[in-house]
Amino acid sequence: MKQLHIVLIPAMAQGHMIPMLEMAKLFTSRGIKTTIIATPAFAGPVTKSRQSGHDIGLSVTDFPPKGSSLPDHVASFDQISTPDLVTKFLRAMELLQGPVETILQELQPNCVVSDMFLPWTADSAAKFGIPRLVFFGSSCFSRCLSEEMELQKPYKNVSSDSEPFVLGGLPHELNFVRSQLPPFHLQEEENDFKKLFSQISESAKNTYGEVVNSFYELESAYLDHFKNVLGKKAWQIGPLLLCSNEAERKSQRGKESAIDEHECLAWLDSKRPNSVVYVCFGSSATFTKAQLHETAAGLEESGQDFIWVVRKGKDQENELDLLPQGFEERVKGKGLIIRGWAPQLMILDHPAIGAFVTHSGWNSTLEGICAGVPMITWPVFAEQFYNEKLVTEVLETGVSVGNKRWMRVASEGVGRDAVVEAVEQIMLGGGAAEMRRRAKYYKEMARKAIEEGGSSYNSLNALMEELSTYVHPTKHNIN
Ligand code: UDP
Repeated sequence: MKQLHIVLIPAMAQGHMIPMLEMAKLFTSRGIKTTIIATPAFAGPVTKSRQSGHDIGLSVTDFPPKGSSLPDHVASFDQISTPDLVTKFLRAMELLQGPVETILQELQPNCVVSDMFLPWTADSAAKFGIPRLVFFGSSCFSRCLSEEMELQKPYKNVSSDSEPFVLGGLPHELNFVRSQLPPFHLQEEENDFKKLFSQISESAKNTYGEVVNSFYELESAYLDHFKNVLGKKAWQIGPLLLCSNEAERKSQRGKESAIDEHECLAWLDSKRPNSVVYVCFGSSATFTKAQLHETAAGLEESGQDFIWVVRKGKDQENELDLLPQGFEERVKGKGLIIRGWAPQLMILDHPAIGAFVTHSGWNSTLEGICAGVPMITWPVFAEQFYNEKLVTEVLETGVSVGNKRWMRVASEGVGRDAVVEAVEQIMLGGGAAEMRRRAKYYKEMARKAIEEGGSSYNSLNALMEELSTYVHPTKHNIN
């Protein structure tokens, strides 16, 4: 097989960059020459990986790019706080096309893998006569659900936000309510995100297929549906996080930890196995002060030990006064608060962790699966309501806290009683032992998938095989 050179083009958000870097490590470990095009704010982790021996190429491109009206300090999705900045950020991502094409011209790769949020890369790849693979950063399950939701539009047949409807035609019967869908999606009039999503659909025409950070044993019926019913090409090559080595998994992901890792480990070591609830809502979901106070009350009333990662919202001044007065003192010894970035994989992998309260971002969900930890799902936005269904109804390794409203900032909906109930159910409820058993099963399957001869290993082989014999349709015609 000829040596491939693949260029990865991630979007500017931790939840998108982290798995792309892991994909680069996977590709290089399998003999593929790999280059990442990163903006300065996201180049650091790539450089760190290079320093620790991964032979990954790096091309840095300015962000905001030339011609953009985005303020210079805005480097990532999670810094966006106003609609005006959303428009400017999306425009800035479009303006990356010129500089990225200059880099592609120089590198002459065989293939690009681009983030879904950069749909123009489909045209760029076509210009260079190479295949474009797209990375949605989500599961086949949620890709199937979002495609079917778009095709069937079952939410049009209900008369209120809370009236349930079934999304049919899938391997499981799944119920939703309209308030779980993104409001921009339901609006008739054009808006920034609607426009972006129609560009994303349009770019599918010029896209060779999708690489998926997941594994066949986790969602086999949905990969089959994606291919056979929706007619898409996809390769499950994950879990990508297992492609980093142990040390990297435990400390070097995304940003610097806000807590000393030894201190965190010592705290966990002092706890009994399966006794601690880990609570973290990813890199960009934020909670209002009122919702944080309800969460605090619920965790305290549950009586369980916990680690809670608290981050201030974009427009909240100070992390220190977000929690109720006296809360930290009262829970001392029982609750560890991390303000900022947590070493999530290190925590999840610790035997003391008994449950994971997650916003159900796909990376966090997969990390929970790989750690074999049952989850309390608390979706907030993006495709998180779909990921929740996978965990609670298909895998049956978790319970929902009950949030039914898609929101950019979690501001209502989950009271302290719901938190207490979910924690009790997952830690002590009748089905807890079975959920834990199932979670351990998927943990084992995840490891098997990436081993030589495993499903993801073979899937990447098949993809490499295809790419090495690829001939672009136009080139083919010319010849
Ligand atoms: N993460 C972390 N520490 C934190 C918060 C998040 O390491 O304090 C990592 C987490 O392990 C995951 C990623 O950031 O890999 C978040 O991605 P996810 O898809 O779960 O959610 P998003 O941030 O995109 O909403």
